[in-house]
Formats: sequence, C-alpha cells, structure tokens
Amino acid sequence: TEQKNIRNFCIIAHIDHGKSTLADRLLEYTGALSKREMVDQVLDTMELERERGITIKLQAVRLNYRARDGREYVLNLIDTPGHVDFTYEVSRSLAACEGALLVVDAAQGIEAQTLANVYLALEHNLEIIPVINKIDLPNAEPQRVRREIEDVIGLDAGEAILASAKTGVGTEEILEAIVRRIPPPRGDREAPLKALIFDSIFDSYRGAIPYIRIVEGQVQKGDRIRFMATGAEFEVNEVGIFTPAPRQVTTLAAGEVGFLSASIKNVKDTRVGDTITSATRPAREPLPGYRKVMPMVYCGLFPVDSEQFDNLRDALEKLQLNDASLSFEPETSVALGFGFRCGFLGLLHMEIIQERLEREYGLELITTAPSVVYRVVRTDGGVEMVDNPTALPAPNLIDHIEEPYVEATIMTPREYVGPVMELCQGKRGTFLNMDYLSEKRVALKYDLPLAEIIYDFFDQLKSRTRGYASLDYEVKGYRPAELVKMDILINNEVVDALSVITHRDQAYHRGRALVERLRQLIPRQLFDVPIQAAIGSRIIARETIPALRKNVLAKCYGGDVTRKRKLLEKQKEGKKRMKQVGTVDIPQEAFMAVLKVG
Ligand code: GDP
Ligand code: MG
Repeated sequence: TEQKNIRNFCIIAHIDHGKSTLADRLLEYTGALSKREMVDQVLDTMELERERGITIKLQAVRLNYRARDGREYVLNLIDTPGHVDFTYEVSRSLAACEGALLVVDAAQGIEAQTLANVYLALEHNLEIIPVINKIDLPNAEPQRVRREIEDVIGLDAGEAILASAKTGVGTEEILEAIVRRIPPPRGDREAPLKALIFDSIFDSYRGAIPYIRIVEGQVQKGDRIRFMATGAEFEVNEVGIFTPAPRQVTTLAAGEVGFLSASIKNVKDTRVGDTITSATRPAREPLPGYRKVMPMVYCGLFPVDSEQFDNLRDALEKLQLNDASLSFEPETSVALGFGFRCGFLGLLHMEIIQERLEREYGLELITTAPSVVYRVVRTDGGVEMVDNPTALPAPNLIDHIEEPYVEATIMTPREYVGPVMELCQGKRGTFLNMDYLSEKRVALKYDLPLAEIIYDFFDQLKSRTRGYASLDYEVKGYRPAELVKMDILINNEVVDALSVITHRDQAYHRGRALVERLRQLIPRQLFDVPIQAAIGSRIIARETIPALRKNVLAKCYGGDVTRKRKLLEKQKEGKKRMKQVGTVDIPQEAFMAVLKVG
C-alpha cells in the first residue's frame, strides 16, 4: 500500500473508559468482522483479559476504510495494554504509530492513566484525537470533560469527537478524523530494513512471532534478518498482516504493520523495542528507545503438592515463551520445599501469571508475599540486589539498605483530598504538589516507596475515595531507608516463607497485625501453637492458637452419616491449600496475609 493511504494509530485511555469497545466498533464498521462474527471485544483475546476487562497483550489489526474522499485507506490499529505495569510496552506501541485516539469517559473525565498515556503520546510526537466516549450515559458531562482536556492536557478540545462506543454514535466521524488528521507514515522504502518490534507471541508451529512496524526498507520471505539487540539471525519464512486473522502477504514495506515468522525458537530473541534489520544489508543504527525490561516485583511460587514441581517448571517455561518479561529461577524454602522465585513487571502481572498457572495448567500453588528489589550496601562496600527477604545478608554485614521509590499521581474529587493525603502520609509518602484539574477534581503528586504501593495501597485508595480516585506511578530510583527483616515463628520455628522486609517504624504494628491474622487463619491443632513476630532475636508480637480439644467428628458418632461425610469433605477441601510446615498445617492465605495488614 502506498504510504499516503496508510494511517497507523492506537487508542489510549484510562481503564474502563471504553477502549476495547471502541476498537470493536471500528472493526465492525470497517467490515473487518461482520456483526455475526463479532464477539465482543475481539482485541482482548485471552479469557482472563475478558473477565478482568483489561488488555494484557498488545494486538494489531488492519482495517480497510473507504473514506468520504473516495479513497481506500489502510488503517492499522495497534492496541495498548491499559495498566501501569506495562508502560514500556505501551511506549513501544506508541512508537509504532503516527497518531492516537484519546478516549475519555464523558462521566468520569480525565484520570491518572489518561494523563500518563497522553504524556507518552506527546513524547512520540503523535497526533492526538480526543474522543469523549459514553455520551449516552445519563450522567455524561461532555462539556466539563472538554474543558478538562483543554485545561489539564492543553489540547484543543474544540475538535473532540463526541461518541458512544456502545451505540456506535461517532464511529464514522472517528474514522474520518483518523484519515484527515493523522499524518501518513514516512520512511524510505529503499533504505536498509528497520522494523520496530512492538509485541511478540509464541506459536507452537511457527515459533516466536514478532509483531512489527516497518520504519524503513522492506522485508519478505527468504530474507535473512538480524535482531540488533541480541545479534541473532534468522531466515524469514513468512510475512503477514492481521485482518484480524493472520494472513500472509508477499512484502511488508516502510509504513506498514504486520508480523513475520522465521523459526525463532525463543521469544527472548524477539524483544519488544528491538530493531530487526537485514543481515545482508544492515542498518547502521537501531531505532531509539529499546530497553531491557526488568522485573519490579518478586514472589515465591511453590506447588502445594511437591510432586508437581516439574509440572510447575514446564508451565512457567511455556508462559515465558509468550511473555519475555516473566523471569523465574528455582528456590528452596525450608517451609515450602522446592519452588520458584519469580519476577514480574508489577502486581497485576503477578496475579495474571498466578491465575493462568492455576487455571490453564491446573496447578495448586502457594504464593509468598511479593517483594520489591532492594539495594543492599554491605559494610565491605559491595552492593547486592535482593528480591527475597531470606536472601538478606546478616545485619552486621549491612551498611544500609535502599528501596525503590516512585512518583505517584493520584487524581481524586476534591472532597477526598484529606483521606488521600492521610493515606499517602501513612505509607511514608512525601508530598510534592497539588493541582486543580477543575473546580471539582485535583491531582496530587507524592513520592512513595514502591513497597508500600504493592501492599494494599490501591485498595485503600479506592475505599477511601469510594472508587473515585485513580493512580499512576513511575519508578524514580533508590533511596536509603530504615529497613529490617521481620521473621515469623510458628511453633517456635522460623517459617522462612513468611519473612518480610519492612520499615522499622512499621515493624511493630505490622508484626502485631500479622500474628493476629495468622492466629485466625491457621486452624487449631492438637497442641498449643505459639505465633511470634521477631526482628533478629527480639520478639515484637506474640499470639497463641489454643489446642483443639474435641474431635470434630465426635458429635456425629452414631448420628447422621451424610452429615459426617460432609464434614470430612469439608475438612479435605480446607486441607487442599494447606502446607504442612513442621508439625503445623498452614493454609495458603497465611502466606499472603502480610499484604492485608498494611
Ligand atoms: P477499556 O478498559 O478501556 O477497554 O474499556 P471497555 O471497552 O472494556 O469498556 C468498559 C465498560 O464500559 C464496559 O462495560 C463497556 O460495555 C462500557 N462502555 C464502553 N463504551 C461505552 C459507551 O459508549 N457507553 C456506555 N454506556 N458504556 C460503554
Ligand atoms: Mg480493554
């Protein structure tokens, strides 16, 4: 396709503002899918995505559109994940586009991720088309939202399109705006190949498949290509486009979007942000902006049944084929046995992987509390990155510990400023500034430790603002803090999988709350079970679970057999997620309890 007839765009929005629904409307309108084929939200393919209403994996689709000017256009829609964990991936898909639809919910207005996404789009010099969505809602306030877009973002909202992705109002106007306002791609088709990888998937027949935007040059079957970050070389088996079903084409040339396959065994060779070039006529420099993504949050995953260890490894390997940002290595816990220490981009990423392991691979897992990566400066001057409390060096070897900090933006209706500030202060936040978005809404900026955010910050923010606040954050670097390792002793033995790193000032409160919670979670045994929290050898909190006195079945003797069976089944059910540690059965929830006692 000639470049002047191509438009590459993405949709950016805060979660739930209607990005996927709008994508559906665009697909439907352009006939990429007929009404009958239309499954709601085809761009969110994974079952999990649909349930949670989030977009995890980027997708791309080519739409053919005959505009009012009579010309046929090829519109490439590149979907972006709508969560702060995946900001880097968002930035790479924006880099593959010339324009963006900015979808804002007419009843909600600008939220934290709206702004974060706009900044990313502006960094990439994208043409931004504001779309005020959900105007069908009775409480829609398109005029207020228009003003917010002008005041807060500084975009001319005069040309904002009023739309309802639900009813289809505004769809054609949006397509016309894409054609008229977004510039066509430029890029020399005769230059050496430069293709930006903005996503990749794994296909069991064809191997790792990079999704690419050709920036310069062209690529076709039989070409020898090189991945510039890794140096790996392959021969292209096929190039294609998504319609949305994959379809082979002869060539992809500068300005176009599609995929290629080249018998690439490992997705690690198809890194998001990397540049593919020709091996025979390589480009001198890769495209800017590539970076290797680093996990931000770690946790231990252990099979409830230790026989499942190999199955867990297989499952993690399979998931990693599709998700190069997932990392794992074997870990041994005294309490939990053999498992894996896994690294994730964030908490949502972690929850998604856990759910997929359980659902798609039928594994029963014990998950330990997530931890950020600490920077430990030893007294001998050495530096260690520690992502596991049990790996912390002995206190006498530590000079000081540093933890990752984020700059958080919180948007909230004005009446909740007090509770939000209180929350941030309680989470060791430092106030930076406050801006009015309108008379009714404000944006607060705080420096906060990442560790506090991965605890219950988001839940508390939502409950303190009745769901009206939104949060976005960006990691800014490391800062020293008074951090200590807190151990939990059950029946006088340290349970390594329950250890956490916490701020000294919060240790006492957290220790108290945690032993209290564990007392409720751990079932009574045939003997008294002391539960203690300790820093080093100093006990800071203690509870005791009293011994079970009566046999639970005693009252059924001679009585109702079904009742007895039910009771036994219930016990078995309860046991499922139990792990025997020493002589005590500890349920799964206990290992995550620390998250709930922020
Ligand atoms: P995303 O998170 O931005 O992808 O948002 P979705 O497309 O999943 O939409 C979130 C929710 O808003 C869903 O329940 C949609 O049905 C609903 N929704 C999307 N667009 C509209 C609209 O124009 N009007 C109304 N009333 N609901 C909408
Ligand atoms: Mg969505």
